[in-house]
Amino acid sequence: MEKYIESIFGELKELTQEGKVADYIPALGNANPNNLGIGIYDNNGNYFSFGDDEVKFTIQSISKPLVLLLALIELGEEAVFDKVGMEPTGDPFNSIIRLETFDKRKPLNPLINAGAISVVSLINGKDNIERIEKILNFIRLLADNENINVDTSVFLSEKVTGDRNRSMIYFLKSIGNINGNVDEILDLYFMQCAIKANCRDLARIGLVLANRGYDPVRQEQIIPKRPVQIINAMMTTCGMYDESGEFAVKVGIPAKSGVGGGILCAVPRQYGIGVYGPSLDKKGNSIAGFKLLEALSNAFDLSIF
Ligand code: GLN
Repeated sequence: MEKYIESIFGELKELTQEGKVADYIPALGNANPNNLGIGIYDNNGNYFSFGDDEVKFTIQSISKPLVLLLALIELGEEAVFDKVGMEPTGDPFNSIIRLETFDKRKPLNPLINAGAISVVSLINGKDNIERIEKILNFIRLLADNENINVDTSVFLSEKVTGDRNRSMIYFLKSIGNINGNVDEILDLYFMQCAIKANCRDLARIGLVLANRGYDPVRQEQIIPKRPVQIINAMMTTCGMYDESGEFAVKVGIPAKSGVGGGILCAVPRQYGIGVYGPSLDKKGNSIAGFKLLEALSNAFDLSIF
């Protein structure tokens, strides 16, 4: 696999010239559009990487399945899915249209912005410091890396520009979907999105998800199996925004992307993969990252279907 990636990497790197770095969160506009990196952990715990796999970026929407996982472990399936549905939307991640038309009580799924805001509102803690510490510690546990933190400038950049998310949370409050202080919950959501990681971290988390909560490196069950199965299913159906269907057909791996340019993949019982390429397509997914995963999936028969 290493040789194969090496042979196609140059060609794929050219694709980073297409697309655009997200700048609706102004601080994300500082990313280098030509970056492309991949990190892969296999089930024996071997790691290999190419390109810019050490570059740190904010995980953005990749935080959504991880916070969902934490909420499922803490509160259980029933409490979480009382607040959020399980169905893909086919709409952009920040769309508000179906909040009123589909189910008048809850967002369609936990991986669109509205659903993720609803899920993070469930995380208990005496204040946001305690809540974000809990989220960070959970992600540190999954990534087996103590050095995972929030990028304050990206957090603040989204906090001052995130009016669309602000409108969403007020709507959610008006329908009784969330309790609590809207500013506080939104801050927590922006903080979870601004958590920094690199390809290696995503690959490491992916490996734990690929093994339903068992970590082949530490050789122990880190988290219970059932919540992992749930988030893997959600990633398969909703993980790549309104490109999830195309990704399922062309790549066929449970995965989650973020507008920071990252993609986390869990190839069941085989690999955890982290990709970084901040130049995005129109739907918000890494252009070169998508193609790289498609090539890998085809060459090594990684599709779960
Ligand atoms: N923080 C981003 C937002 O809410 C996350 C979106 C994403 O990665 N798709 O807009």
